Amino acid sequence: MTAVSGRGGPVVLPEPGPEPVDLGRFGGFGGRFVPETLVPALEELEDEFRHAWSSGDFRREFGGLLDTYAGRPTPVTECHRLSERLGVRVLLKREDLTHTGSHKINNVLGQALLTRRMGKNRVIAETGAGQHGVATATACALFGFDCVVFMGAVDAQRQALNVWRMGLLGAEVRTVESGSATLKDATNEALRDWVASVETTHYCIGSVVGPHPFPWIVRELQSVIGSEARSQCREVLGGDDPDAVVACVGGGSNAMGTFAGFRDTAARLVGVEAAGEGLESGRHGASISRGVPGVLHGARSLYLQDEHGQIREAHSISAGLDYPGVGPEHVALAESGRAEYDSVTDHEALEAFRLLAESEGIIPALESAHAIAWVAREAGAALPSGSTVLITLSGRGDKDAAQLADAFADTGSGAGSGTASGTGNDGP
Ligand SMILES: *Cc1c(COP(=O)(O)O)cnc(C)c1O
Repeated sequence: MTAVSGRGGPVVLPEPGPEPVDLGRFGGFGGRFVPETLVPALEELEDEFRHAWSSGDFRREFGGLLDTYAGRPTPVTECHRLSERLGVRVLLKREDLTHTGSHKINNVLGQALLTRRMGKNRVIAETGAGQHGVATATACALFGFDCVVFMGAVDAQRQALNVWRMGLLGAEVRTVESGSATLKDATNEALRDWVASVETTHYCIGSVVGPHPFPWIVRELQSVIGSEARSQCREVLGGDDPDAVVACVGGGSNAMGTFAGFRDTAARLVGVEAAGEGLESGRHGASISRGVPGVLHGARSLYLQDEHGQIREAHSISAGLDYPGVGPEHVALAESGRAEYDSVTDHEALEAFRLLAESEGIIPALESAHAIAWVAREAGAALPSGSTVLITLSGRGDKDAAQLADAFADTGSGAGSGTASGTGNDGP
């Protein structure tokens, strides 16, 4: 295992990507479906970002934070033992090595800079498992902003440690009892707060979702993943691009940020959704495979819905893939065929979690384990033997360790049991 590139060099921000068209439409998806009171704030945010993203000052400041605070550039790591096992050459883009342990920090630092430029001093955010809430609270502590994080009461109970972390970072966590008391209800409540507080408050959305301009802004802020990875891959591969680029898809920000760097190459782009307990079970988070067009949280996209058009709860063993929708640009990429989307089950993700730990000494976030699982399953099949694949490791797995100790204990094949064959393919 060799870190081939990265650390120590300056952060090189990506060139600005495609400008939004038609109020943030990606084909028939995206757009801006919000109460009128929010339109001026979204227009201000769009203007501010467009100006900032091409301004040397902003880019220097953002690049500096990514470097000295977030720990970028993150390396690309070649996985020799895993490659040998799978028969494909695996490279990992190591977002797990950033401050706070996932790619979410890239987005929140950029939005914090925008907040300051707009003269605002209060930030609100929604969070499901708490990961975006913790990232936002981190950036707010750094900038000295007031921070309120909306979280469903059910989620807050499940993720008590993250609630405590946000408090430690100086944020107020407001629990939401309405509806199913989970992420979609927290998002509704955050939008309600924003309507009333928009003069002083920025709403920091955590993925490439929500009304225009968020899907565009979050993609651009995350595309540092792809631009770094592209040049690092070229260094490792003697000037070539990988044959395939794979990332997990919740709302879709780590995937979109990665794909942005490879859009104009010949690389296959593969997004991996959560199939949960299986697509047929109805308990999954696969909005692209099984979603229905609709409008939620300010944008037209694919959402998990019942026969009455009510939003269905998503399910995944990984909290970060547990969102009933997906960023509109992914839907457009799926429709055009430029990117492919597939899904893996909870069970497959658990296997991959252990596989990467055993074969490379890297414990992935459960979300990221979905991308690993797809490569492990498709090596020699959809992914021909001998191909080279870059996988974005969106986060580290420490946060999942306690939950997984339970999951492995339930299935009687624990980490630490010595896993008799060591192939990672023999249970749970
Ligand atoms: C939040 C999260 C995700 C899912 O979000 P995307 O917007 O789809 O990237 C994936 N991995 C990790 C580690 C996360 O924290």
